[in-house]
Amino acid sequence: MTDMTGIPLRSDLLGEEPYGAPQLDVPVCLNVNENPYAPSPEVVETITARIAEIAPTLNRYPDREHTALREALATYLKRETGVQLAVENLWAANGSNEIMLQIFQAFGGPGRTALSFAPTYSMYPEYARDTFTAWQTVPRRSDFTVDVQAGIDAIARVKPSIVLLTSPNNPTGTPISVQDIERIAAACAELPVEGAPGAHPVLVVDEAYAEFRAEGTPSAHTLIARYPLVAVSRTLSKAFAFAGARVGYVASSRAVIDALRIVRMPYHLSALTQAAALAALEHTEGQLSQVAHLRATREETASWLRSQGLEVAASDSNFLLFGRFADCHAVFEGMLARGVLIREVGPEGYLRVCMGTDEEMTVFRNALSAVVEELE
Ligand code: PMP
Repeated sequence: MTDMTGIPLRSDLLGEEPYGAPQLDVPVCLNVNENPYAPSPEVVETITARIAEIAPTLNRYPDREHTALREALATYLKRETGVQLAVENLWAANGSNEIMLQIFQAFGGPGRTALSFAPTYSMYPEYARDTFTAWQTVPRRSDFTVDVQAGIDAIARVKPSIVLLTSPNNPTGTPISVQDIERIAAACAELPVEGAPGAHPVLVVDEAYAEFRAEGTPSAHTLIARYPLVAVSRTLSKAFAFAGARVGYVASSRAVIDALRIVRMPYHLSALTQAAALAALEHTEGQLSQVAHLRATREETASWLRSQGLEVAASDSNFLLFGRFADCHAVFEGMLARGVLIREVGPEGYLRVCMGTDEEMTVFRNALSAVVEELE
């Protein structure tokens, strides 16, 4: 790290490192849960045409309310979840990372607590830190499922303003059923928030990987009409194969969305982003065309890993948590030496790999077999 002596960095940030997976130039990158299949030439053509159309207007600020994009996202969600939402129920930002930050800015803050279920996505405690929100977790069971009653008891005890449920969870891939989410939503609707008399916790369901679940799995969107404090976040970065554009979005009651509008930066979503996202959403079928194949790749890879004597967490996402290794770092390094970048993340002894193309998965298998043999 750079020497920061004499720089007035916030004292609570002293010694902190910027978060992020290594971005290395290696042949096979299976470390950030992207969709490995590039946009088709038709999508590229539409995006290029739309950007060309708006380029002459780039002296003007974009639509701050990004209404056309919210309409397109409502159409997408209707297709995916069967739930019809209005523009007022939707909000987009630069990745679901920014959505989460806005949620913490609006509902967290000094004297407030956010509560989640560990192990989970490692960015959440950073949003908490950045917004001076206290961070607490309830441990998941040994199979990484959520103990709903233990969660409800913790919410009653801690009185958080934000409860974060990730389904499927990162880095474990574990889903939580909509029935279990509803039990937590119903409890939240009755329970108090420390420091906010009369208020109840916002229940954020992070569905970044939802499209990778079995088709027809009900989404937490079905709860929004009955539980106005349920906020369901999704992203175009994963199944939708659009990580480079940085588009995430959240669906909730109008009151929750309006609260996010208070903390957003003016014109946070650029005209280029809005145009590109609208163009890609016109090709929804194509953008999602590899999702079924990636699900099959996940199942095949999980069986193969198990056949190698490894433990694999049950996953509904596009990645697998596998282990256990006495020396994870040695496995990670061995893989990297063979041109395969995976992720050192999650519980002790485990590594995470996301699903690549068929060719990439062959390289992954060969490399892992060689590394395991070498380390024996
Ligand atoms: N939520 C979860 C659970 C994730 O794993 C990620 C990406 N790793 C995100 C949110 C953020 O994704 P993005 O900002 O690209 O939408």
